[in-house]
Amino acid sequence: MLFLLKPITVDAVVEDYVSMGAFKITYYCSCEDCSGHWGTQTSTGGCCKQGRTVAVDPDVIAYGTKILIDDNVYIAEDCGSRVVGDHIDIYVDDHELVEKLGVKHKKIWLIR
Ligand SMILES: [Zn+2]
Repeated sequence: MLFLLKPITVDAVVEDYVSMGAFKITYYCSCEDCSGHWGTQTSTGGCCKQGRTVAVDPDVIAYGTKILIDDNVYIAEDCGSRVVGDHIDIYVDDHELVEKLGVKHKKIWLIR
């Protein structure tokens, strides 16, 4: 006898994404205003990279976590004294971008 099972692939993929709701999103660069003496060095000992590095509150999101924001996958690998609670600071190369992008609120997902 043949049983047709409902495909479960889609559900399985969705379960890999954990919705965290809307977070406050800001941007920072390696300049002294944004990062003080840290420059492009992350708090986890790496080097900041645009499109990958975000600063988080490690009490909210653990270091190393992949975070989906606007179809781009970032990695939590930095922190900042201004990044507290439901707040993600996205690294960009250029301070002009920091000012242009300003402050936003975006839905984020953690990827397991
Ligand atoms: Zn800056």
